[in-house]
Amino acid sequence: MIDPVLPTYNRAPLSFVKGEGSWLIEADGRRFLDLGAGIAVNALGHANPVLVKALTDQAGKLWHTSNLYHIPAQEALAAKLVEETFADTVFFTNSGTEACELAVKMARRYWYDKGQPDRVEIITFDGSFHGRSSAAIAAAGSEKMTKGFGPLLPGFVHLKFGDHDALRAAVTDKTAAILIEPVQGEGGIRPVPDQCLKGLRDLCDETGTLLIFDEVQCGMGRTGKLFAHEWAGITPDIMMVAKGIGGGFPLGAVLATETAAACMVVGTHGSTYGGNPLGCSVGLAVMNVISDPAFLDEVNRKAGLLRQKLEGLVASHPEVFESVRGVGLMLGLKCKAMNTDIVKAGYAEDLLTVPAADNVIRLLPPLNISDAEITEAVARLDRAATRIETE
Ligand SMILES: *Cc1c(COP(=O)(O)O)cnc(C)c1O
Repeated sequence: MIDPVLPTYNRAPLSFVKGEGSWLIEADGRRFLDLGAGIAVNALGHANPVLVKALTDQAGKLWHTSNLYHIPAQEALAAKLVEETFADTVFFTNSGTEACELAVKMARRYWYDKGQPDRVEIITFDGSFHGRSSAAIAAAGSEKMTKGFGPLLPGFVHLKFGDHDALRAAVTDKTAAILIEPVQGEGGIRPVPDQCLKGLRDLCDETGTLLIFDEVQCGMGRTGKLFAHEWAGITPDIMMVAKGIGGGFPLGAVLATETAAACMVVGTHGSTYGGNPLGCSVGLAVMNVISDPAFLDEVNRKAGLLRQKLEGLVASHPEVFESVRGVGLMLGLKCKAMNTDIVKAGYAEDLLTVPAADNVIRLLPPLNISDAEITEAVARLDRAATRIETE
């Protein structure tokens, strides 16, 4: 008999009833050190008092009014995002997938408005992940996600990650946009080199193509900059954000320049819950913390500490791990042993990590993890690796 919960997830035999900062606690009191942070969602840790206050203050006043009316918290968060980024305007969603939907719609509508309705193609890259809606699975294009769900939304051109010649050849007078994660998350923590991001910007400028960054996982301070593309010194035309921006409350957004977004006039898009008072109040509290340069300095310092310890870990377990990769606190351990076995061995050491493609385990701790917790996490990873070696 089918489970009352539709069984689409491969769940670990763990279940948590409480969170405190970087820790998750089971009903019997067993405490796990959380280097997954809900897959980069709990950017400020669990039950962060600042976020709890933002949510409960708003919850006592007003939950929902609909976008039929002005929403002060939404306007405040949009203003903050515009102030801190390349963007001139923001649309709020409830998830990264919905941000992908709008990014795709906006890119096509942009060319329609310019009198070039045939410019509909969106170039994407293998190993990418943009969500699970029909458009988002068509965008990423992997067999694993699309099999049996056809006919897929047409118009996506899939290229190999890092093939510059193929990319130049693929941009034609049918190309609306290039969509890319500056650091692939699900694909196995694969950063796009700064030079390549600059090259993408140049190519888009030469051809008029829109550049869309999916910063759902790598954004919101994760890499040590507010957004990952800032390391390359370039900006996109459209950007998808979600995960960390709500700190655990469902919230996403599409940020865009005025030029890219001018096509999205009244009636072209909407959402019942997107930008509701609860989500935006929490989002504003998250933004106020993460956009502080002193906070980002700390993320970078901690990232250096964690990375250095991980390099030592890899050196002491050469049969288990191959290398460390990633940026800031978006780190991956490329494994020699099976990544899922190491994640399981981590559970046995009361440590949570997240597997990714390319036999990688992801380390995405809360951005405010302490130095002592970093030391403890690597000690647990070390014991987990020893378990694998002695199995
Ligand atoms: C998680 C993720 C998404 C999808 O976000 P949901 O909130 O799960 O819909 C899209 N893009 C990237 C890069 C992601 O990591």
